Amino acid sequence: MSRPHGVFRRFVSLLLLSLAPPAFAATPFTEGMVTITLDDGWATQFSLARPELNARSIPATYGLVTLAIHEGWGGYMSLAQAQTLVSEGNDIASHTLTHPDLTSLSPTQLAAELQDSRAWLESALGLPAVPNFVVPYGLQNGPVLDLIRQHYASSRTVSAGRNFRDTVVYELRANDVARTVPVSTVQGWVDQAIAEKSWLILVFHEFVNGTPTRDTQYETSHFADLLDYVQTRGVRTVTLAEGLALTEGRTEPDLTAGMLIYTDALQNGFANWSWADHSLDETGVVHAGSAAIRFEPDTWNGLLFHHHGLDLAQYQSIRFWVHGGTTGGQAVRLVLHDGTQMLGTTRLDTALGAPIAPGVWQQVTIPLSSIGATTGTLRDLYFQDDSGTDQPALYLDDVVLVPQ
Ligand SMILES: [Zn+2]
Repeated sequence: MSRPHGVFRRFVSLLLLSLAPPAFAATPFTEGMVTITLDDGWATQFSLARPELNARSIPATYGLVTLAIHEGWGGYMSLAQAQTLVSEGNDIASHTLTHPDLTSLSPTQLAAELQDSRAWLESALGLPAVPNFVVPYGLQNGPVLDLIRQHYASSRTVSAGRNFRDTVVYELRANDVARTVPVSTVQGWVDQAIAEKSWLILVFHEFVNGTPTRDTQYETSHFADLLDYVQTRGVRTVTLAEGLALTEGRTEPDLTAGMLIYTDALQNGFANWSWADHSLDETGVVHAGSAAIRFEPDTWNGLLFHHHGLDLAQYQSIRFWVHGGTTGGQAVRLVLHDGTQMLGTTRLDTALGAPIAPGVWQQVTIPLSSIGATTGTLRDLYFQDDSGTDQPALYLDDVVLVPQ
């Protein structure tokens, strides 16, 4: 019996291998998508951006600051203009009453900013529901996120990156198109969304004809060029609500593969605060999926991935893949930090038990107990140069916290 049994087991394991989704690849859509979001309700969005959108039949999502419209603050659109946006088929999201830093408010103020803005939009604009939220400045913490989850079905941040079918809908990533962002850069983002079948959300603020004087202004002719590019490439344009309807509607991360920090893009609310020379979109050296991290570990520079807080007691280890590039042997330190103090640290070669190898991917698993980080709140994850000198690039991919 042992022989057929062995054959059967091999068959079963082959079957599992062929049926399992590729490890640590984000789930693509059927095609790439682009969403234009216009934040705050500036009057120039109505007077300058809207005609360009309408001329191309591209609906957009407007994240409105409701008291600005209700009280007629200078520079903001009027109620009649907001109503016109709705009648023309645009999508409306709530962007609070007054655009505060939500993490600085009392519970009463926070509740008002979330609930009263939504109620005003529904009544003033005659909308049956306003389920989607845009976080002012992208600033949130645990209590803020808890309340957003109570009152809204989704939330859009300003953490850069793309979204996938399995992205958590309360951590929607969006790329800010400020004055300094060249048209060619945004075209590159559009190309990437098409190639990997991801969902690119763009954020605009004010518009101006001629040269912008503020960082939040964008030249209308450049906006028109971008919309032309989107149409030339034939990429699907969707509103925030339409894009969300095509996701899995995931409200919590799927922890069967662990708490993903990076797979093709930052995941699960991690924001890129890195100051080293790096790319999160490296496509030449990739472990799994479509992209990896390229990191130049020079002169104490580092990658920094920030989160509003994860309870380390729920995890047993941190696991990732490292590739030493052409030379290997880099001195790089991993640091887990809670924003005030270090929770644990180790060098990558110490964790590997050998120098980082050139030309191959190696898996690194670091038990949190081995670095004394079994409790505490992880807010900042660093990969940092530990040499103080100039070192060749290395690559990282599939960074994950493994649950208990
Ligand atoms: Zn805003």
